[in-house]
Amino acid sequence: KPWILGLTGGIGSGKTAAANHFARLGIHVVDADQAARWVVEPGRPALQQIVEHFGPGVLHEGALNRAALRERIFLDPNERIWLERLLHPLIRAEVAAHLADAESPYAILVSPLLVESGQYRQVDRVLVVDVPEALQVERTVGRDLTSEEQVRAILKVQASREERLRHADDVLLNDHDLAWLQAEVERLHRFYLTLRGGRQ
Ligand code: ATP
Repeated sequence: KPWILGLTGGIGSGKTAAANHFARLGIHVVDADQAARWVVEPGRPALQQIVEHFGPGVLHEGALNRAALRERIFLDPNERIWLERLLHPLIRAEVAAHLADAESPYAILVSPLLVESGQYRQVDRVLVVDVPEALQVERTVGRDLTSEEQVRAILKVQASREERLRHADDVLLNDHDLAWLQAEVERLHRFYLTLRGGRQ
């Protein structure tokens, strides 16, 4: 079983930018959001079960129509619970399988909801990418070309900065430029290598 670093942070904090740089250093990165999409791909058993449960209205050209499914579970909390009970164990298994493929000295699980979902209990160490809220909103608006209001609405449903930091072993304060972020990633990477003591 590989040694796993959980990487999390709020929306637009710089998780992807940090993870991409760890990957450039040769570290195996698994994205929890991607795993959540893979388990409902055509041909996977979960999609079949979702269609049997909700009907063909949640399909579009053979693939899952996320908007349609979202609407169904938004209107009915019981349906949301049904879906979560189906998907959560599958996503957990998918994530574990991809982490097990790691050949690097350690592996990274990137998850925006590491704290909210309790996934932090399944990793060996937690790195939080932290950013002052004003900068977080500015960067997210710049990236997604969305409104500040919309970003603030998402911030409200995510864990607070304080709550996330309570679970952090390490903090990467991403309040400088990208070159600085990368230098911080390299510093942390060297530190994680010493923690691992060269073990695979
Ligand atoms: P989400 O949870 O929404 O996917 P994220 O945490 O993965 O967000 P990124 O996409 O990595 O965040 O970063 C958000 C935006 O801010 C991106 O456009 C990214 O290029 C930019 N960014 C990240 N870090 C810096 C930095 N240090 N300096 C300037 N821009 C940055």
